[in-house]
Amino acid sequence: MPAFVEHAAEAVLAAAKDMLERGLVEGTAGNISARTEEGTVWITPSSVSYATMELEDLVKVDPEGGVLEGSRSPSSEMALHLACYAAYDDIGSVIHSHPVHATMFAVAHRSIPPCIDEFSIYIGGEVRVTGYAASGTSDLGEQAVSALKDRGAALIANHGMVAVGPTPDKVLHITALVERSAHILWGAGQLGELHPLPDEVNAGFAGIYTGFMRSYKG
Ligand SMILES: [Zn+2]
Repeated sequence: MPAFVEHAAEAVLAAAKDMLERGLVEGTAGNISARTEEGTVWITPSSVSYATMELEDLVKVDPEGGVLEGSRSPSSEMALHLACYAAYDDIGSVIHSHPVHATMFAVAHRSIPPCIDEFSIYIGGEVRVTGYAASGTSDLGEQAVSALKDRGAALIANHGMVAVGPTPDKVLHITALVERSAHILWGAGQLGELHPLPDEVNAGFAGIYTGFMRSYKG
């Protein structure tokens, strides 16, 4: 059975409020989803502020995107979320966001290398950048799935980022860690030469990632 999240709708809403509080989102940008035990997906709606969002605003969809519950329209990036669930049985949640520093790297088409110790434990290694694909297209989903192989996050060229993992709170942690790393790398680059973590350290941490974050079965 694919990984799923207990009380998925509540977990999505809690992460949405937390994402706003952490300054990882402005207005209605970005979206969060979680897979249920029955294989359906709860996702944030389009054009509703995270500040006022309530459980009734969330939308439940089937794996093909058909609306099962909720009166609002699902996020315009729903196809990106569903492509991730279809490709990876071991994830229970997806978060798409546009935090400033990560998006700077996405615009520069620069991957984010592991630069602080905990990075590879939670993300698996360097955060890759997709090729360019327009928002809301199936091409974007395919590009993201490929960049997410053995990783907890990927940068979406000229757009933002996508993160995956077992539960919305853990995926929000990954999102914040990628943004923090992008901020640190950008600042450290102003100070001079960047020193990557030793390869053997990254290899060890990546093993923890694949054995811990991506083996979750609900
Ligand atoms: Zn977006």
